[in-house]
Amino acid sequence: MSKFFSTKHSKLIPYTPGEQPKDMKYIKLNTNESPYPPSEKAIAEASKQAELLRLYPDPECTSLREDIAAYYGVEKENVVLSNGSDEILNFAFIAYGDDSHPFVFPDITYGFYNVFAAVNNIPYEEIPLEEDFTIDFKKYCGINKNIVIANPNAPTGIFAPLTEIEKVAQSNPDNIVIVDEAYVDFGGETAITLTKKYDNIIVVQTFSKSRSMAGARLGFCIASKEICRDLNTIRYSVNPYNINRMTMAAGSAAINDEEYFQRNRLEIIETREKTRKALLDMGFEVLPSKTNFLFAKSDRIGGEELYRKLRENGILVRHFTSERIAEYNRITIGTPEDMETFINTVKGLIL
Ligand code: PMP
Repeated sequence: MSKFFSTKHSKLIPYTPGEQPKDMKYIKLNTNESPYPPSEKAIAEASKQAELLRLYPDPECTSLREDIAAYYGVEKENVVLSNGSDEILNFAFIAYGDDSHPFVFPDITYGFYNVFAAVNNIPYEEIPLEEDFTIDFKKYCGINKNIVIANPNAPTGIFAPLTEIEKVAQSNPDNIVIVDEAYVDFGGETAITLTKKYDNIIVVQTFSKSRSMAGARLGFCIASKEICRDLNTIRYSVNPYNINRMTMAAGSAAINDEEYFQRNRLEIIETREKTRKALLDMGFEVLPSKTNFLFAKSDRIGGEELYRKLRENGILVRHFTSERIAEYNRITIGTPEDMETFINTVKGLIL
């Protein structure tokens, strides 16, 4: 830390992204990326924009907002775009959190929420997941605090029915309920319909997973027009050109390529279910997943040891050290070939 670093950040513990090692070629099952390329139409549209890079992009992102709004049956004023969904999550923390409006989220969830709270000096509370890693939504009802729920949750992969989200929103009418749907396209159901009924719900989604565009950094939220205005106030105060030209064009092409989208997500779901069965057959405990990853543990090998041995064998999975989940690993779904290599390697290690 330099002597210039503000003391207000001196205790800040930043988010740790999954490792991206360069020492050798790994089968990367550690950062929930898609193993498949984006839509060819998205690639073509992004390339066309490369010629125009001298020009700023449209700060209002009008055409992409219109495309997303049309796809989800809302108006463009209900959509705000961001540089990855991480950014819109941060905007929401900035917009709605302060000493008298703390944030609440599960103890086991996306590891960025507590960092967004910390960097913005917003108090937060973590509510422990149940023994079986589900969320007891009663614990979020009527608490009069801002709430963030990843649905499906990460790294557990468990999806909760929308009726539960609805009860939480209904019982906290003076607070914001953010539903982070980064993985919803792999078998969950979106809460976007609820945004028409409840003015306190913000649904956050990303192009990183089911549309294979993690490198383009494109996320968005759908919420009431008033909330979108708030979030744009923050966006215009931080980075009005947060969506670059190539990403904006690729995003429009991707959202309009329904055939690609369905194929992409269904392929992952199919490979996930095959991988889940293979792990169960080897005696693993595998949580039910509606995402592009599995969260699994074995009583034959510790979580950390499995992570390490897989790494030695050229396969990266994500291991978290926090106590409740230290025996588990989060395994991103790759291609069928990737997963066959993964399963065979695990077999060699434990059978
Ligand atoms: N929410 C959850 C639950 C995630 O796992 C991730 C990705 N790591 C994100 C949001 C952010 O994804 P992105 O910024 O790529 O949209």
